[in-house]
Amino acid sequence: MTSQPDSMHAISEDTRRTVDDVLEYARRRALYEDIPLDKPMSPADLARLASGSITPDGIGAERAVSLFENVLAPACISTDHPGYLSFIPSAPSKASLAFDVVVSASAIYGGSWMEGAGAVFAENEVLHWLAHEFGLPESSGGVFVQGGTIGNLSALVTARDAARRRNREAGRSDPARWLVVCSGEAHSSIASAAEVMDVGVVSAAPDAEGRLHGDSVARALDEHGDAVFAVVATGGTTNFGIVDDIAGVAAAAKERDVWLHIDGAYGLAAMLVPELRPVFAGVEQADSVIVDPHKWLFAPFDACALIYRDPSLARLAHTQKAEYLDTLTDSPDWNPSDLAVQLTRRSRGLPLWFSLATHGTEQYRATIAYGIDLARRIGDEIERRDGVSLVRQPQLSVVVFRREGWTAADYQAWSDRLLEEQRAFVVPSSHAGEPVLRFAIISPLTTYELLVDILDSLG
Ligand SMILES: *Cc1c(COP(=O)(O)O)cnc(C)c1O
Repeated sequence: MTSQPDSMHAISEDTRRTVDDVLEYARRRALYEDIPLDKPMSPADLARLASGSITPDGIGAERAVSLFENVLAPACISTDHPGYLSFIPSAPSKASLAFDVVVSASAIYGGSWMEGAGAVFAENEVLHWLAHEFGLPESSGGVFVQGGTIGNLSALVTARDAARRRNREAGRSDPARWLVVCSGEAHSSIASAAEVMDVGVVSAAPDAEGRLHGDSVARALDEHGDAVFAVVATGGTTNFGIVDDIAGVAAAAKERDVWLHIDGAYGLAAMLVPELRPVFAGVEQADSVIVDPHKWLFAPFDACALIYRDPSLARLAHTQKAEYLDTLTDSPDWNPSDLAVQLTRRSRGLPLWFSLATHGTEQYRATIAYGIDLARRIGDEIERRDGVSLVRQPQLSVVVFRREGWTAADYQAWSDRLLEEQRAFVVPSSHAGEPVLRFAIISPLTTYELLVDILDSLG
């Protein structure tokens, strides 16, 4: 007989100290006054400094925490540093990141109501608030999934399933190849979802400003007819923060009875700001929408809110059937697993729930509005300066601009130096073949002065 191995799970002096060491480090990291930017390290350097931690008897919590704090963590760029302006930064509120620790400590299974009712209820409170803000009906509902990529995929799988069902009910056959219509400016995850689903992508041309309009979508739909199962509009492109003419796209899709999905992973959060609401007109007609709390809703990695106008269609598309699951799937309960491409799930909406409950919705509106205002102010400053110019007026919180006379190599050398000096993380981007710079502003800790300082460093 094998004796019960209890040393990892028992409440002993050792395990107490381990928990204390880890939580104490988490507390230090969460409360850093000056978040270090840090930078990556070469595999060779990390091998030299950090290998050998996996041993038959373990190196102990104290050494492992120390290795992480002193070697591994500094070899990761802090995406919540106020000078992290590349890609889309993260800026979790202190309440949300602290509560993420509670989610881990609570061992909640977030996939089913039977197991996680309380957590699922709280997540649904957030999803219903978001749905209401987006103008979706009371009956809409959804689930927090890992990220926008999985959110987009799950929504499109539901859309295609609904189209197939309608064909079956009408006695029509399915097209040789299903198609999704989206803008040429749509996020790469749409093409990735299409690849996974083995469907084609029809790229509808946006206008010169990068906005997709209804006429372009209407043309694509009329050309491809019943082969199209969904139209995707973007509520804030990642590169520029451009919001499509969603009302126009919605009209074209609805007239032809085609599913409308809104990819608002980054930008849809801006709809919480009253002055920005008109920009997003048409979202209320969506069949599905996504927005990533880990982007502009100040939650930690990783979470995407996926909301359906009619969640029953998602359930038909996604519910997994297995004998061991019958007790769950045969009940009318609200099971988050049934709404997306996933089964086991972390209750990843809880950090946002806790932070929203703590601070209230007004604080969220104000913090998002700050980023939009900051983008406009620094955009104006770029226009005033010699030697730099905007590629486009910022619409949300992304500012794309050029340093006159610089080659791609100049941009790269400057960016490397900025990171080396631990001042900011601004990677060169490109637009229509031209190398450009891009500030993506999320964090309320990012200041106008910091951005001016970065502009000054462009010489
Ligand atoms: C970031 C982003 C995605 C992908 O989201 P992940 O959470 O990174 O998977 C999809 N669409 C848009 C518009 C995005 O900005």
